[in-house]
Amino acid sequence: MKFNELGLMPELLRATADAGYSEPTPIQAATIPVALRGQDVIGCAQTGTGKTAAFCLPALQRAHAASGTNASLHTLIITPTRELAAQINESLATYGRHLDLWHTVIFGGVSEKPQIAELQRGVDILVATPGRLLDLMQRGLVKLNNVKFFVLDEADRMLDMGFIQDVKKIVKALPAQRQTLFFSATMPAAIRQLANTMCKNAELVAVDPISSTIEVVSQTVYFAEKDQKRQLLLHLLDQEEYRRVVVFTRTKHGSDRVARHLEKAGKSVAAIHGNKAQNARTRALEGFKRGDVQVLVATDIAARGIDVDDITHVINFELPNVPETYVHRIGRTGRAGKGGSAISMCDAEEREYLRDIERLTGKRITVVSDHPYVSSGSAPARAEASQPRQEGRASSGRGQGNGSMRGALPRNGRAAPNPPAASQSSGSRPAAARAPAPGASRGRRPRSNWSRGNNRTGRAAPASA
Ligand code: AMP
Repeated sequence: MKFNELGLMPELLRATADAGYSEPTPIQAATIPVALRGQDVIGCAQTGTGKTAAFCLPALQRAHAASGTNASLHTLIITPTRELAAQINESLATYGRHLDLWHTVIFGGVSEKPQIAELQRGVDILVATPGRLLDLMQRGLVKLNNVKFFVLDEADRMLDMGFIQDVKKIVKALPAQRQTLFFSATMPAAIRQLANTMCKNAELVAVDPISSTIEVVSQTVYFAEKDQKRQLLLHLLDQEEYRRVVVFTRTKHGSDRVARHLEKAGKSVAAIHGNKAQNARTRALEGFKRGDVQVLVATDIAARGIDVDDITHVINFELPNVPETYVHRIGRTGRAGKGGSAISMCDAEEREYLRDIERLTGKRITVVSDHPYVSSGSAPARAEASQPRQEGRASSGRGQGNGSMRGALPRNGRAAPNPPAASQSSGSRPAAARAPAPGASRGRRPRSNWSRGNNRTGRAAPASA
């Protein structure tokens, strides 16, 4: 499936190409055409599947179709945490860069004044956490009576974090005649019921949930020094059962280096990453599918296009610093419920990443220590490092939604940085940019993706305009 088969407008196709996406992820391929038809969607997908674009792209296209001379709040996206809200707003800026739409983000824990000022200027798309939104609604500062397109993101986390009553109040204030996209990483009965109260004739769209992927994949970790990893890799690949293997590296250069090393050692190998021409990537993938190529070395972005069954092993040559990426990587094996094997090489600097992964998955990864390149001191360091969060995602206590940070942790489970300053409030939009731009489209004020920071991109009017 290609992006241009989904019914997206050329401006959005250009933006996805600018972002370096060669093809839609499964959740995008399943969601976008349905959403563009105007139908409700109940989507079961976790972070890392590309779900943000799955709802942002149709949101932008629908908002563009509905936008008039003045911005009017047409599209509402609610999400449980400020980090997610900021990320979604950034995604709207990325995917909407060739469009002429206003969007903003509101969440608690920061001053409301710039947010209110921005809302009063008018926006087409609003991203919000429930608490701040409800607060501003109750004071008459946000009106939802024109919303035609509503996205509820991470419904299960909303429930876990105690925001469901707020969400219900928000939904009550929306017009009954609207389109709803409902996303949740998991679909327990309570979430399904909630989805049914909000959606009409919804199409159900699901990609592998985190738990089913993890349960069928055997996961092991090999502690090794950084400079021993290549030898360890060869040692593993020499074993017979490693028939069709994807090796993940963090960088494009890293993947080239690993591929060269394997090639010199006589392995049939291909590397795929963003610097490779499309036809080189296609050739590599075809060889891999046919079984001519034993090892595919890939970066995370490039690997999104890999649609190959029967991958026997995924090897994390380097651990990802975002734990959700690990889950996404290992989901390349164990597809369709078949077993698979995920092997992670972990050097001293990556221990922290391993800890984050175990926290996210609630699972302790088995250590293999009978290999020739085992690093010294791995066991004690690990024993102290590994205390996976058995209670799962529910009680992480991260995020907010009611105006106060409750010990919030970001999605990667590490100390919470503030979201990018430019995303926090509308204060970043320079007042001068509101002056009519020469040649502004549809003879109205210029709109812009101001949220990308003070360097207004898109159709911003120059300060002198
Ligand atoms: P999400 O699940 O929405 O958090 O997306 C995870 C990551 O995948 C983000 O860094 C996106 O930029 C990236 N992404 C989304 N869609 C695609 C695509 N079609 N191809 C490659 N990367 C993508």
